[in-house]
Amino acid sequence: MTTIEKTADAPAPRSGAQESEPLLQVRDLHVEFHTRDGVAKAVNGVSYSVAAGETLAVLGESGSGKSVTAQAIMGILDMPPGRIPQGEILFRGRDMLKMSGEERRKIRGDKIAMIFQDALSSLNPVLTVGYQLGEMFRVHRGMSKKDAKAKAVELMDRVRIPAAKQRVNDYPHQFSGGMRQRIMIAMALSLEPELIIADEPTTALDVTVQAQVMDLLAELQREFNMGLILITHDLGVVADVADKIAVMYAGRIVETAPVRELYKSPAHPYTRGLLDSIPRLDQKGQELYAIKGLPPNLLNIPAGCAFNPRCPQAQDICRTDAPVLHDVAAERGSACHFWKETLHG
Ligand code: ADP
Ligand code: MG
Repeated sequence: MTTIEKTADAPAPRSGAQESEPLLQVRDLHVEFHTRDGVAKAVNGVSYSVAAGETLAVLGESGSGKSVTAQAIMGILDMPPGRIPQGEILFRGRDMLKMSGEERRKIRGDKIAMIFQDALSSLNPVLTVGYQLGEMFRVHRGMSKKDAKAKAVELMDRVRIPAAKQRVNDYPHQFSGGMRQRIMIAMALSLEPELIIADEPTTALDVTVQAQVMDLLAELQREFNMGLILITHDLGVVADVADKIAVMYAGRIVETAPVRELYKSPAHPYTRGLLDSIPRLDQKGQELYAIKGLPPNLLNIPAGCAFNPRCPQAQDICRTDAPVLHDVAAERGSACHFWKETLHG
């Protein structure tokens, strides 16, 4: 697969995605942080869903609220200063925000797993990876030490760590970045979750290794028919693995679409800007487009459309009226007053 580079054609649709009842549904989620300087509105009415066997890519520049949304789903938000004034997070139709602490912990421990960007800080440096993988089975599944270790080796094999039987006794620092991230994937898979949230899982890796880790994740997700929320700031990473994309800007979803259609014809100027800033195989040597300006200060989000100060298409209405997410086509939405012009322009 390609990681950074994009070919001229839109990616082919993936098979295996299902039209079943969503596994996870986030509805009108708001998250704010109460800081000394004021209230930072990090998430401002996000709705998205993912079904079993489906991959949703959540895309957006740094600070757009991707991780905070994921932390709200996982129940690992810093509260305070964080607060969820509004919204629902339904897992198989039931709102996790309304569950008892114990019920919530059971779902988040057993059914949803998370993979973070930085494996080195997620793993304990003084314990072998075998011990840490085995711990999942000893603690959560009550297995004996011997069985847990055998399971650890099996998982390391699954994520294609060479010589797993020997390497199970190695410490995290003895692995390369890519191998460590494979161990994180193994950890996430250990309890056979229904949903994996991967937050920039390959951002810290070399480009070639990024592609391998992403392919592995996509393959395992298909095999186990898990839902996958793949958070990234890199549109090039998601082309081959995602079914659909939600593009975030200033805590809102500004565009959502099946991946192929979004590549072919974006319906929001922000998405178009992101697409135009990916290097293309067929246009080597050309200067890359970059979206001008910076994302807004979340303490003071611009009136109207939050993207208007950076938007090449902005008109008066964009500075006064916040656009809602318009239905653009089946399963497509755009929060742009001028989505028609963008789509066909
Ligand atoms: P990203 O899209 O890069 O993952 P985040 O979801 O991490 O962005 O952050 C969204 C915004 O929320 C950022 O501006 C960040 O400063 C703010 N934020 C996140 N966590 C906290 C916190 N604990 N306290 C205050 N602000 C926070
Ligand atoms: Mg983040």
